[in-house]
Formats: sequence, C-alpha cells, structure tokens
Amino acid sequence: IFDEFTIKSLIRPVPGFPRDGVTFRDITPLYQSPRAVRMVTDSMIQRYVESPVTHIGAIDARGFLLGAVLAYELNKPLVLFRKAGKLPADCVSAAYSTEYGEARIEVHRDALTEGAQVLLVDDLIATGGTFLAAAQLVDQLGAQVYEAAAIIDLPDLGGSRLIQDAGIATFTLCAFE
Ligand code: 5GP
Repeated sequence: IFDEFTIKSLIRPVPGFPRDGVTFRDITPLYQSPRAVRMVTDSMIQRYVESPVTHIGAIDARGFLLGAVLAYELNKPLVLFRKAGKLPADCVSAAYSTEYGEARIEVHRDALTEGAQVLLVDDLIATGGTFLAAAQLVDQLGAQVYEAAAIIDLPDLGGSRLIQDAGIATFTLCAFE
C-alpha cells in the first residue's frame, strides 16, 4: 500500500545545492529503501498496467532508474532520452531551459514511430522544461505522449501546470511546496 508520508520522509532536502537559494530534493535515501522503491514502482505499475502505453520514455539520468523497472514490469520497450552528446546514433534534439540554465535533450530517431503512446518518466517536475522538451521530440517522431509521470512535483515552480496547459496529463506521487 502506498504511504506518501514514508515516501516524503525518504526524500532529503539539501539547501544550497546546486547553488544558493535552491533546495535540492535528493532521492538517494528513497532508493536505499527497497520497500519505498517497491511502493513507488507498484503505484505506477498499477496505474499503467491496463493503459494503452506502448513505450517507456525515461529521462536522463534519474528517470532511468524508474523507467527501467517500469519497462521491465510492464513488458514495454525502453526509450532513453539523454542529455546532448551521449547517444551514438542519429538523433533528434531539443533545447530547453532549466532552473539552472540551458540544456539539450536527445533521442534516437529510430526509437519511436507513428502510433507509439509514450509514458515519459522522470524523478521530479520543477519548471517542466525537461518533460516539455522530451514531449517535443516524441511529437517530432510522430508519436504521442500518453502521460508524464514523476515521483515528485514542485508545484510552486509551475512545471506540472505548464505541461498540463500543453495538453499533456501529468502524474506525480508527492509534492513539496
Ligand atoms: P525541470 O525541467 O522540470 O525544471 O527540472 C526537472 C529535471 O531536473 C529532472 O530531470 C530532475 O531530475 C532535475 N531536477 C531539478 N531539480 C531537482 C531536485 O530538486 N531534485 C531532483 N532529484 N531532481 C531535480
């Protein structure tokens, strides 16, 4: 059974990382609790097991942790959305801005085709820039985003709202105001 209090207590606030004025939400304590990891993954499996999702799109790097387990359990292909310069073959690429600056995200051009229904997965939604850039790539390849799922939402940064305003449903398991 999902216990939000347990999950939140295993997400460590780190003030001043990566720079002054930012409190980083560190998920490494959560990953050190097999019970908590099971709660998180089981909640997502339950949500998507009977959905039309065809692919799991996991976002570099902490999204890979959750994405790999979901792809395994849901028996779906795993597609990696990586920071620029990491994927070796032909890519499509999108620029976006984060809380901390400019970034670029890429996916292999042959990873998705028309008709794919992609579940995008990451650890956290802040400004929403990462998910929106990944969604742009999905769209560019003729596929659709089924939903954008993360463990944590930071609603004060407005990202989940922005993603929803772009017509993409979001799903998160907890929030920090
Ligand atoms: P956004 O693009 O929504 O502004 O930022 C989300 C991305 O940045 C995610 O890939 C996430 O991993 C990373 N990120 C930004 N802030 C935090 C944070 O406080 N904690 C964690 N774990 N990831 C963060």
